[in-house]
Amino acid sequence: MSIAEDDIKKFERADCEQDRVFYQAMEEVICSISPLLESDERYARHAILERLVVPDRIIKFKVVWMDDNQNIQVNTGYRVQFNNSLGPYKGGLRFHPTVNEGILKFLGFEQILKNSLTGLPIGGGKGGSDFDPKGKSDFEVMKFCSAFMTELHKYIGPRMDIPAGDIGVGAREIGYLFGEYKKITSSYEGVLTGKPFMFGGSLMRPEATGYGAVYFTETMLDMEGKESLEGKICTISGAGNVALHAIEKLQQIGAIPVTCTDSKGTIYDPRGVDLCLLKELKLEKRASLEEYIVAHPEAKYIPVSEYPKGGHAVWDIPCYAAFPCATQNELTEIDAQNLISNGCISVTEGANMPSTPDAVDAFLAHKLCFAPAKAANAGGVAVSEFEMAQNASMSKWSFEKVDDKLKETMQQICKRVSLTAKDYGVEGNYVDGANIAGFKRVADAMIAEGI
Ligand code: NDP
Repeated sequence: MSIAEDDIKKFERADCEQDRVFYQAMEEVICSISPLLESDERYARHAILERLVVPDRIIKFKVVWMDDNQNIQVNTGYRVQFNNSLGPYKGGLRFHPTVNEGILKFLGFEQILKNSLTGLPIGGGKGGSDFDPKGKSDFEVMKFCSAFMTELHKYIGPRMDIPAGDIGVGAREIGYLFGEYKKITSSYEGVLTGKPFMFGGSLMRPEATGYGAVYFTETMLDMEGKESLEGKICTISGAGNVALHAIEKLQQIGAIPVTCTDSKGTIYDPRGVDLCLLKELKLEKRASLEEYIVAHPEAKYIPVSEYPKGGHAVWDIPCYAAFPCATQNELTEIDAQNLISNGCISVTEGANMPSTPDAVDAFLAHKLCFAPAKAANAGGVAVSEFEMAQNASMSKWSFEKVDDKLKETMQQICKRVSLTAKDYGVEGNYVDGANIAGFKRVADAMIAEGI
């Protein structure tokens, strides 16, 4: 039995279904880093893996709030503080009915290595609630956020743990959370990132993850000797913060993004999607994508129910580059085979772990340029760290300054990942490169800091 198989068996407890995605993420990392563990005995001697896969602490709490009909509602809130070897815990909050401890452990674990890859002084964490903001009034969202922060404020701080947004948590939610924190603590400090610009947010934070994923892809294609994205058809899933800003940057550089999706269906507009309309539908009205075809009857809307089980319509549309930007495990092996047989040459994960392990294996076996999430979507957390730096120094950076620093950060991550893969004999494998480079920096800090 190899070190990797041994280690996976040691940490897995398959009795907990909630932890399935966490084990999926952990297995991938353990397989990737086994050459490093075999070549340097310090990591075993200091029990780095044993220590890294267990969060420092998981805070779980009850959130009680009152809806518009005067009914009392009860949700569960969480904060997983995973590892702070490189800096204060940092990672988003997700509000979605599927949120549970296992999903947040998976996201927090990924966040440790992602934050490490940025080269910035930030540790890893994640949090959220099973609260669903969809269909709630602004007042109800405010009531929930206030109740959530009543408990969370005890565990966070600008040098301790700095949450941000994720699925279901955008500028509106961050605003309400910040307002409540300020009220409880009487302290006006940068305890959350993703704040609106008028009270301490950074320019470009909303754009950062989507733009960063495109910057990463351009660098990767260039390094791998492939044609650039200009003039090329791109397919994107999701219609939220990450997806819409990836579409925006792709359009700016002359690519042709033709799709987007939400939880109910896919829009395929072969002439290129209408971004203004998408922003109006998804960011302002919070409506279904189905409404897109009212303004553009020539586009196609494919409801989720109309596509055969196991695959997704968006990945069956021919493209040069694909950008899964919705949620975990949304791109299956069937989807990967469809992308490959339709001539796709590049896949960039804007969402966290959107490709299943079988899909990743298929991409790597067919030598696609594959940019894994923890490297490709690190632009969001990088700009969050820039927001922390601006808050700490009471300064405001221009859009150009943030954009330049974001681009430089994404290019550096891409080069670091590619060079690491080469150093460990897996040239072109950005999954292994990202896991090894991310792990090494955290592990070395853990050794230096002692137990
Ligand atoms: P949003 O809430 O803004 O958008 C999420 C999008 O994905 C929506 O279009 C939503 O559809 C769709 N979606 C969510 N869950 C599902 C599901 N189970 N099945 C199908 N579609 C789904 O989130 P973000 O854009 O912020 O985040 C998207 C991904 O990117 C997540 O994996 C997140 O963790 C990751 N990420 C986000 C960062 C950020 O800066 N925001 C940073 C790094 C990673 P609908 O509109 O119907 O709800």
